[in-house]
Amino acid sequence: MKIKYLGSGASEGFPAMFCTCDNCKRAKLAGGKNIRTRSQTLINDDLLLDFNQDTYAHVVYGGLDLLPVKNIFITHYHEDHLCGHEFINLRPPFAVEAENMVKPDVFASKATIDFLQKDLDYALVTDEFITVHTLTPFEKVKAGNYDVTPLTANHDPKTEPLIYIVSDGEKSILYAHDTGWFTKETWDFLKENKPYFSLVSLDCTCTCDKISKPDGHMNLISCDNARNELIKMGCADENTSFVLNHFSHNGGYTYDELVPVAAEMNFTVTYDGIEIDC
Ligand SMILES: [Zn+2]
Ligand SMILES: [Zn+2]
Ligand SMILES: [Zn+2]
Repeated sequence: MKIKYLGSGASEGFPAMFCTCDNCKRAKLAGGKNIRTRSQTLINDDLLLDFNQDTYAHVVYGGLDLLPVKNIFITHYHEDHLCGHEFINLRPPFAVEAENMVKPDVFASKATIDFLQKDLDYALVTDEFITVHTLTPFEKVKAGNYDVTPLTANHDPKTEPLIYIVSDGEKSILYAHDTGWFTKETWDFLKENKPYFSLVSLDCTCTCDKISKPDGHMNLISCDNARNELIKMGCADENTSFVLNHFSHNGGYTYDELVPVAAEMNFTVTYDGIEIDC
C-alpha cells in the first residue's frame, strides 16, 4: 500500500498565517519541509482521507489527481479535515464535462455528514454529483478494493470523530488523526480483534507536551506509549512503521528540529508530499 501525505500540519498550518511566534518564524525562514499545509492523505491513488481547505493547493502544487479518487473518508468536521463547500467544484460551471468525473462516495460519522450536508445544500451539490454515507463506529464498510473500519477518536465529541483502519486485503494501516489517547472502546476493539498494522499514523499535534495519555491530541510521549500498547496487544511489531503527523506550531519543533529527536525514538516524521510504502 502506498501512503502519500499531501499535508502534514494541524488546523492553522505551520507557519500559521497570523502568528508571529518564534516557531513560525523559524519554519518560514527554513522553508521546504518545514512548511506544513493542513493534513490530508492519499492511499494508493484512489482513497482520500479528509477533504480540507488545502485540497486545492494539494491539487495544483502537491500532485493530487482527484479523477481516480472514488472514496473519501472524513475523520471529523473541523475545517482542517473537512471543507464541504469545496465540493461545489464537482458541478458546472466549476467543472465542465462533469459527467467524466468519478462521482465520489464520501463517508463520515452522522454528526459530520449532517454538517457536510448543510454545505452541500448551500452549494447546490446534489446527489447527482456526490454520494454520502453515514458510518457506524466499529462497523466495517467496503469501499472499492478496501475494507475500512471506523473507530472512535478522543477528540471534539460534537463532531463524532473517527479514526480509520484501512485494509487492501493484504496490508492494514491505522490512520489516527485527530485523536488524543484512544478511547476505551477503541482500545477494547483493538484488543479483541487484534488487526495487524503495517503502518500506524499517530497524531503528534502537541509534540513537546509531557502528558502521557492526553485528550484531544497526542505528543511524542503519548505516541510512544500508544506504540508500546499496540505492540503489547499484538497489533504491531518491529516491522510496523510508526509515523508521526498533524503538527502544530505550538508543538515546539520545526521539521528539521524534530527529525533527529524522532529518529532517536524510531519514529518517521511526515512532511508535505512524503510517500511511504508499507
Ligand atoms: Zn486537525
Ligand atoms: Zn506560531
Ligand atoms: Zn480536529
